[in-house]
Amino acid sequence: MIRRITELSAKMAAESSDDPEALERRFQAAKGQSPRFLLLSPIHRSAQDLQVFRFGQGDAFHATRVTEQILPLPKNSPFLFAGPAAYNRQFPEKSGVIITFDLEEPGAVVRESIQHAAEHPDFKELPISAFRVDYEGASVRLIAHGFDRDYELENYVLKRVSKPDYLDDDTLAVLCSDSRVRPPLTPNGLPMAIQTLGAYLPAYNETLEETVQLNQFFGNWLSKESIERRIIVVVHGNFEGEGPPCGAAQASLSVEDIREDYLRRVIKVIDADARHAEENLAGTPEERAVTIGKVSLANLRTYPAVADAIKKGVLHEDFMRVLKMDTVTNVVSPYELEPL
Ligand SMILES: [Zn+2]
Repeated sequence: MIRRITELSAKMAAESSDDPEALERRFQAAKGQSPRFLLLSPIHRSAQDLQVFRFGQGDAFHATRVTEQILPLPKNSPFLFAGPAAYNRQFPEKSGVIITFDLEEPGAVVRESIQHAAEHPDFKELPISAFRVDYEGASVRLIAHGFDRDYELENYVLKRVSKPDYLDDDTLAVLCSDSRVRPPLTPNGLPMAIQTLGAYLPAYNETLEETVQLNQFFGNWLSKESIERRIIVVVHGNFEGEGPPCGAAQASLSVEDIREDYLRRVIKVIDADARHAEENLAGTPEERAVTIGKVSLANLRTYPAVADAIKKGVLHEDFMRVLKMDTVTNVVSPYELEPL
């Protein structure tokens, strides 16, 4: 399966080389990123959201929350939400935050999540647009709220709505929030995705709300009948000889330069975890990105629900892998040789 994911990514990249718009986006991606939107999606719908709003490469920086759970306050969700939202502050063309909810999510989840999102200091001057999405029916309903809104932007987004590819909820991708990297297609559709700075997944910590929520997510997911379940950690960078590195991996190599509070806190933890795992300190952002991927894989095993599933044989260690994605072409390759 992992080989098929890598083959599919190469095929997609080859097909889009005839498309002038895709080529222009790659050209821009090679120079940097300047996304207009910060998209905050439930894990199950993270990849589908890009298609629902027809966001192409470079359009949206991405953060995640656990489906059916209230987004925690920024201080209780540093890795999934607050860190990516703080990173987004530096982009000159940022024009709004888009938060999506699945059809079945309770009203309280919607209300309180929006309230908690609005608490983020870097959202103070950004309008928040919230939508409830019917992913199968391809329709979207605007959610009214009392925080800053931008009606023009909401209309722009609403007009773009289209039907996404199928959800492959046997596959979970952990990847960077970077607007230029997109969850890779699987033979069965679009994976679920957790998007964080550098594809870093924090270790389980019973006093940190977002990891408690993640553990519940893993527990629910791994209790479903399936033999095909897999987790891929997708790190990105200049893996094809040209183009830009992962900004978060690069930042972790010089933490002392970071001023913003939430961002520094997150990158500091990433750096400390990576240093701990590196025999020789990483010299390039690409080396660091790979270490972060390996750390995320190790941290996954600290979640009681994941450890339990591995012990019971529900989740096979061979089905947890690090993949490398080129920032510009989005072609993925395995970090290790695959036995498949
Ligand atoms: Zn990155």
